[in-house]
Amino acid sequence: KESTNRENNVAKIRVVVRKRPLNKKELSRKEDDVVTVQDNAYLTVHEPKLKVDLTAYVEKHEFCFDAVLDENVTNDEVYRTTVEPIIPTIFQRTKATCFAYGQTGSGKTYTMQPLPLRAVEDLIRLLNQPVYYNQNFKLWLSFFEIYGGKLFDLLSDRRKLCMREDGRQQVCIVGLQEFEVSDVQIVKDFIERGNASRSTGSTGANEESSRSHAILQLVVKKHSEVKDPRRNNVTNLIGKVVGKISFIDLAGSERGADTTDNDRQTRMEGAEINKSLLALKECIRALDNDQLHIPFRGSKLTEVLRDSFVGNSKTVMISCISPNAGSCEHTLNTLRYADRVK
Ligand code: ADP
Ligand code: MG
Repeated sequence: KESTNRENNVAKIRVVVRKRPLNKKELSRKEDDVVTVQDNAYLTVHEPKLKVDLTAYVEKHEFCFDAVLDENVTNDEVYRTTVEPIIPTIFQRTKATCFAYGQTGSGKTYTMQPLPLRAVEDLIRLLNQPVYYNQNFKLWLSFFEIYGGKLFDLLSDRRKLCMREDGRQQVCIVGLQEFEVSDVQIVKDFIERGNASRSTGSTGANEESSRSHAILQLVVKKHSEVKDPRRNNVTNLIGKVVGKISFIDLAGSERGADTTDNDRQTRMEGAEINKSLLALKECIRALDNDQLHIPFRGSKLTEVLRDSFVGNSKTVMISCISPNAGSCEHTLNTLRYADRVK
């Protein structure tokens, strides 16, 4: 089929690593940058270690990914290497997901925030092209959070949401507010509003959003007028999903290890995060191996995304890493996770 061939030009799963620059604090502490990037695809972590006799040495860990973006790469270039190629496939029934994975402070939100803005720009441009113009396509946005295994609408005062399946493997999030978007400024406002209402966690505001997954969805729908015979043939405008893209700012990967914390709430959250990140890895692997059974029931996160794990799906995993020596262990964990996804 022609459409399938065209979609195959864009890889089904891509794993990209982004390294952020050393920040002011790390520079003032004179921390070493232990991550080197070669040829936009290879990466080496120079792990400082001590022998039993306390002499220092460096252990090298080498990795290779679909793309490795160093500290000089701009958000615009990130967009072009990750999301841009997928955008046209959304009009061909593709359900795409773009994840930001990594420890707290590694640049997930910095990377993720501008992506939907650029995507909306491109989607609107495509909507206005002659091929699509007459088809009554519209673009919709929603923004919600998964925190402690529960769903909250970030665009309507953190209203609690629940999920059900409609029997045709479509996920329906009951009560989730969707807004039609026709320009980029509105999207900017929505993102700011949504981020401001993200969960602050049980341990206070300084922990910020590191314990929740934030999911922003852009959905293209085809609208048509349908007469309702039960109600005097009143015409309703019905929107059918054509394709969508979800941008997911994942909980800090180190939070999954909070399972031995003294605080019961923190422990519970840690266990939930650990479960969801493991389930996500299993689902992407199953997808990559063209397995018929995708183990999406493993967590709320993967259940919510189940319709993006079947049919025409595209997945981009952006693994964010900190360059400083002090983050070495977390950086290696993130790279090993990314490595195992494919
Ligand atoms: P996370 O969401 O993973 O916890 P953030 O996105 O909040 O991390 O990033 C932590 C800090 O580092 C922020 O102050 C952010 O502005 C900065 N930062 C992250 N990535 C970059 C980058 N590539 N270039 C410059 N600053 C960055
Ligand atoms: Mg963040």
